Amino acid sequence: RQAAFRTDLSVLLDQIGGGKESLSFMKHRIRHFTEQWVTAANRLDDKLGHQWRDQKKILVHVGFLTEESGDVFSPKVLKGGPLGEMVQWADILTALYVLGQNLKISMSVKELQSFLGVPPGRGSCPLTGPLPFDLIYTDYHGLQQMKQHLGLSLKKHKCHIRVIDTFGTEPAYNHEEYATLHGYRTNWGYWNLNPRQYMTMFPHTPDNSFIGFVSEEFNKTEKRNIQQNKVNNMAVVYGKEASMWKGKESFMEILHRYMEVHGTVYYETQRPPEVPAFVKNHGLLPQHELQQLLRKAKLFIGFGFPYEGPAPLEAIANGCIFLQPRFQPPHSSLNNDFFRGKPTTREVFSQHPYAERYIGRPHVMTVDYNNSFEFDSAIKEIMRTKVEPYLPYEYTCEGMLERVHAYVQNQDFCAPEDPVIFTNLSRIVYGGGSRFIETLFVPLPNSTSLTWASNVRAPTVWPPLSSLRLLASEEGQSCVDACRLVGLICEPAHFRFINNKDALHGLEVQCKVVNSEINHILPAFSVVQQECSLQEEPLLYSCAGHSLKYRRLCPCRDFRDGQVALCKDCL
Ligand code: UDP
Repeated sequence: RQAAFRTDLSVLLDQIGGGKESLSFMKHRIRHFTEQWVTAANRLDDKLGHQWRDQKKILVHVGFLTEESGDVFSPKVLKGGPLGEMVQWADILTALYVLGQNLKISMSVKELQSFLGVPPGRGSCPLTGPLPFDLIYTDYHGLQQMKQHLGLSLKKHKCHIRVIDTFGTEPAYNHEEYATLHGYRTNWGYWNLNPRQYMTMFPHTPDNSFIGFVSEEFNKTEKRNIQQNKVNNMAVVYGKEASMWKGKESFMEILHRYMEVHGTVYYETQRPPEVPAFVKNHGLLPQHELQQLLRKAKLFIGFGFPYEGPAPLEAIANGCIFLQPRFQPPHSSLNNDFFRGKPTTREVFSQHPYAERYIGRPHVMTVDYNNSFEFDSAIKEIMRTKVEPYLPYEYTCEGMLERVHAYVQNQDFCAPEDPVIFTNLSRIVYGGGSRFIETLFVPLPNSTSLTWASNVRAPTVWPPLSSLRLLASEEGQSCVDACRLVGLICEPAHFRFINNKDALHGLEVQCKVVNSEINHILPAFSVVQQECSLQEEPLLYSCAGHSLKYRRLCPCRDFRDGQVALCKDCL
């Protein structure tokens, strides 16, 4: 069946149900954004030229909101607890619904069982027939519940699952045996999924798929109005929980010298002692009221926590400048309690690396808060600087619809990935100061003969092979960084096309031997030892991996302006 864009969201709102604060929060958000979604749907429909889109049967099982997982989030919704997850789920549900998908929503194990048609209780292999869904979106809690109730049949249907995973899971943590043997075991990973089945809130590592969320977008007139109504000396502090303000007195003092400071800190009856008396505290606000506040403010200031939330994007979209601390040394699972136990080695160099890297000045300023001179001059600069409200395309409703559409239609982790044999017609291209091999790989049907025929078709892969650019990283450098340095992004789906001798040959690498091993750094080569190694375990293809001893073979690709998840030919 063909999927048709939907512009009436009332059925979705009914489907979500009610009762809990978390559900009210999500529904309130969906209602508030309805007009933006509708406009976006019409624009995307035109952009795609009303092309055929398959309607898929999709189950969304929101594991962390189920009673069975303890639902620790709902009671905190009105008390300053994390809301980013709720924002993300609300937007994913809406995107799938607006795209016209056939959607079922489950928020309890009971509903999960009934949608899947498995009998209550725990069996070893209760689902014998086909899975009644093309896709299942869930989270780590939901995955665990599915394991308990689907038993062995989960394995057979795993490729249909997508895991909403805010901070991301790197390949080394995802591969059960490898993680166990090499110290990458955490509370979360080891599901042996294709790493692209994990969907993140920001484009952290390209090993995962970036699904995101949305923020408000304004037209020219609205933007002008916002700019005209800005109060130059008004600051809002990022931090809805009192604990986030602890120990920040010295910055607050400096800030207060220049600006009127506002907060949205949750409190029950009394003002939290962490919040200085000069701060105008509004208490936790409903989302749209926070937006009104941000619309007037000039500065949105982060104190280092929470990491990588939605609020800074909302502030920048409302014309604020976001000021945040630089972290030196960077925070990571090695040195930080929040990241400890999370399945990632990612190093976080500021409170909001996306804001720093993808948005930057004049909207985002990242400074050393321990240097009071630097902090002081940043605030003065912010008061002088005029900025327009800004929202990257990938965080608009249209951008999110475009990306989710592309994933739903093109990502297929069920199709067997045959080993492909290539012959390489590499052409060396010079550009951007670094040397690429523009790969013109021509696939051969399972044969060792290198006499390729011109009628051999390129395999239908997504992202298409035309986007592939092969390059070698430096020693100690990951493919994430190697690709980024030349304005590209690492594309894990392309590893299988460069995991071969032809690729090494194309890069003119000297190899005494070419081994094949299981290690998330591979394919790679050591210059000193003239040792080359290919990857034996496709689940361990990793953009994030790096090692001082090796230069890595990196499959990079281009991307669309403002939409890093999609290559130029990806739509
Ligand atoms: N938020 C809100 N009221 C407030 C402060 C924040 O509704 O007074 C919302 C905000 O609009 C954002 C969400 O809380 O979308 C999550 O914010 P944050 O960046 O703090 O991330 P979290 O740590 O909650 O995931």
